[in-house]
Amino acid sequence: MRDVSLPRSLEELWGLLDRESAAALYAGGTDLLVKLRAGLEDPPALICLERVGELKGVQDELDEVWIGAATTLSTLMEDPIIQRRFQVLRKGLEVLGSPPVRHMGTIGGNIVTASPAGDTLPALYVLGAQLEIRSKDGSRVVAIRDFIVGPGQVLLNRGEILAGIRLRKVQSYAIHHYEKVGRRKSQACAIASMAALLTVSDSGVVEAARLAWGSVGPTVVICREAEAAIEGKPLSMESLKLAIPLVEKAVSPIDDIRADAAYRRTVAGLLLLRLSEYSAGTCSAQ
Ligand SMILES: Cc1cc2nc3c(=O)[nH]c(=O)nc-3n(C[C@H](O)[C@H](O)[C@H](O)COP(=O)(O)OP(=O)(O)OC[C@H]3O[C@@H](n4cnc5c(N)ncnc54)[C@H](O)[C@@H]3O)c2cc1C
Repeated sequence: MRDVSLPRSLEELWGLLDRESAAALYAGGTDLLVKLRAGLEDPPALICLERVGELKGVQDELDEVWIGAATTLSTLMEDPIIQRRFQVLRKGLEVLGSPPVRHMGTIGGNIVTASPAGDTLPALYVLGAQLEIRSKDGSRVVAIRDFIVGPGQVLLNRGEILAGIRLRKVQSYAIHHYEKVGRRKSQACAIASMAALLTVSDSGVVEAARLAWGSVGPTVVICREAEAAIEGKPLSMESLKLAIPLVEKAVSPIDDIRADAAYRRTVAGLLLLRLSEYSAGTCSAQ
């Protein structure tokens, strides 16, 4: 039996972390409690973040949106600002697990778990998410791409927590896309996934592209060469096809029980071709 503490404020949380420095934090528990049950982790005590009000909610702050790390995935999915401005994130949330998992799981948990298959991560990379890390001594801000350093590895020191996620509101991208390929249509871990933000001119030329792939490397994969290859060209099958070899070169997938590396590499490249579906103007506007 382990002690489980349920602080109601950050102040209470800092006191608990001082006294129980080896305790494990959790929010929804959909990742951590599974690991405990499987005997993969054995912390002496648990601290639950679920009731810390300062870590929850979505706040509209002038040119930024702040998302509390302990905000559940279902709350985020239903949030009007996320629906209006950050469709790429909403699309990632829609295919994450099942309604019960989204009801319990949090965005902070998805980030700190740092699974290469995490469904919010490609969207947060293309949106340039900044993370607010807090401890009793203060706070720091770090870009998500610098925070996640490997599968399950993040730059979080003892006594620190992920408090929130900051997204810039002024994003000019009209096309928001996320697709994951899994072994089933729902409740499947991604074999490969891709998030994309595109701006396309009235004449159909790609003016700006942000692309990120999940499940095809130790962390989310960014491919500047592929972005540059499709920028300045019509959003067509022909120009997207030219970027495929660049994606295949950038990714470094592994073999596992879900798929082998060669298949993942091929799928990562082919996911680009989906973007041609937006060429006729069927885009998801912000
Ligand atoms: C059946 C099932 C299906 C799933 N399907 C998917 C899926 O399709 N796609 C997907 O991406 N994920 C999936 N998951 C994984 C999981 O639901 C998500 O990663 C979820 O977002 C985790 O959030 P949580 O709050 O439950 O994390 P927790 O289990 O509470 O925590 C996970 C880790 O993050 C740490 N942590 C949590 N919050 C903080 C914080 N604020 N500061 C510091 N550390 C923190 C914890 O210490 C722990 O190490 C699935 C899980 C299950 C059980």
